[in-house]
Amino acid sequence: MGSKGIEIVGMDVQELLNLLNRAFSDEWFAYYQYWLGARVVKGPMKEAVIAELLQHAMDELRHADMLALRIVQLGGTPVIEPKKWYDMTNCGYDAPDDSFVETILNQNIKGEQCAIGVYKNILEITMMKDPVTYNIVLQILQDEVEHEEDLQSLFEDFEIMMKR
Ligand code: FE
Ligand code: FE
Ligand code: MG
Repeated sequence: MGSKGIEIVGMDVQELLNLLNRAFSDEWFAYYQYWLGARVVKGPMKEAVIAELLQHAMDELRHADMLALRIVQLGGTPVIEPKKWYDMTNCGYDAPDDSFVETILNQNIKGEQCAIGVYKNILEITMMKDPVTYNIVLQILQDEVEHEEDLQSLFEDFEIMMKR
């Protein structure tokens, strides 16, 4: 860890690490929810939905990596024990126990909307205080906004198709 790099953080580092570890736990759940969703989904437009879910799964895994690197940089430790993800999570895990396309899309849209709120909050907290974390979180937020839009447009197509 770089001491000057930590010294320039203008907020409580433990509080920041807690926020980042909570988001880190969310990302693992998001990754698994997408990945498993892609494996079990059934119904119309399945192929397009699987492709999108798998792409998003890889993005969420990359977000977990970005957060872990920043946590370590700040002298912290990414959540070691997966059981703790349940205590730390903001957005939870929505099991894809109903594999119909519409249900899976809705679950993941809700997840993205939660993630957008979480990252917007971290941006507000780190603004002018920790430009490095701010920049990382901004990149993640941009992806989550794109994810929501991708899923909602798939959902729209699904609805149009079902009306015919
Ligand atoms: Fe993410
Ligand atoms: Fe996402
Ligand atoms: Mg996408």
